[in-house]
Amino acid sequence: MALSPERTVVELRELQELTGDENGSQRVAWTDTWERSRAWLREKMAPTGATEEIDQAGNQWFTLPGESDRALLIGGHMDSVPNGGRLDGCLNVLAGMEVVRRLAEEGTPPLTVRLVSWADEEGARFGRSLFGSSAAAGSMGDQDELRERRDADGIALPDALAEHGVDLDRALEARPQLENAVAYLELHIEQGPVLESLDLPLGVVLGTFGVERHLVTFRGQAAHAGSTPMDQRRDALAGAAKLELEIREIAKRIGGGAVCTIGGVVTKPGIVTSVVETAECLLDQRHLDANQLAEMLSNAEAASRRIAAEETIEVEWEKIWSIEPIPFDERLIELADESIVEIAGTSHRLPSGPLHDAAEVARAGIPTVMVFVQSLRGLSHTKLEDTKDEHLELSVRSLDRLTTKALDAFA
Ligand SMILES: [Zn+2]
Repeated sequence: MALSPERTVVELRELQELTGDENGSQRVAWTDTWERSRAWLREKMAPTGATEEIDQAGNQWFTLPGESDRALLIGGHMDSVPNGGRLDGCLNVLAGMEVVRRLAEEGTPPLTVRLVSWADEEGARFGRSLFGSSAAAGSMGDQDELRERRDADGIALPDALAEHGVDLDRALEARPQLENAVAYLELHIEQGPVLESLDLPLGVVLGTFGVERHLVTFRGQAAHAGSTPMDQRRDALAGAAKLELEIREIAKRIGGGAVCTIGGVVTKPGIVTSVVETAECLLDQRHLDANQLAEMLSNAEAASRRIAAEETIEVEWEKIWSIEPIPFDERLIELADESIVEIAGTSHRLPSGPLHDAAEVARAGIPTVMVFVQSLRGLSHTKLEDTKDEHLELSVRSLDRLTTKALDAFA
């Protein structure tokens, strides 16, 4: 059975028929529709002879034994957000399935090949993303908090998981699944506009962005909008406005894909008759390089102090959340680049803004790489999410080529 990327295109439509509706894909993790997609995958995989196993975190594994126990992993996720797109996560799994079919037909691969569909990548129901991959990677450390989480209907997370055979307290027992892994490959839709704007079907992902999230509060003095002359105001909103314009310059100056966003500003007292006393800004900064990210942060802090002095107001910073950049494996990046050039003529290297299961696997120390395929209009997490059929086929071919190269390189 030769590789048939056309079949992947057909199967993506079949899966959408089975688990989607007029509003989009409905494969939310820990629901019956998600289970239906897993049963469908099980049936589709059966002819390959790969052995199925569901681990303690709910991850679904298919193992094709090789000449060695050392394993090459290909991953994705069948779960979607509610009213989600038809490709996010499942393209990876279905393309991986096509590669496993080809390998099974050809005989025994030099390394064991394992296809994994991670459980609850999206965190759509309980607000906890990368559930299965973080358990297998051993980085899940928030079980106490997860025990308290409830969905919109008030159902507790441990109860929902139990219905699908997963005991939250034992989820970390999925850890041995990565023990023999020598490399991890993940294909994904880009979910952004970069490849489309370059008119390229495919790109290799350098890693996932580090993120610094802070609450920046400017404090001035509330004063009457009618009686306070313009040159005697201590206007906190002026600080927020200046900082918003400044972070765009900081991102431009640092470059290398840097992005800075003030995603929200809350002003108090927030009435038309008063100068703003406090302006709370939600600042998000991202970069693939840890030093550049640190520089962006210190530049923004310095700018906020300068602005505060100019406006005779005060400024205060509070950290909300941060994560370090997670770079992918140099050797696999080269192999992915070669594969894309061979399949599509031109490759492009780009960072990933969103986190993916691949980031958890990479954090666990396993050489990892991702390939992105162009997303039309850069849209994702909506039923409008789409990719041209010809590009989907190229993406399956590039994953297949990369698998062959990785089997060679890591055997
Ligand atoms: Zn995804």
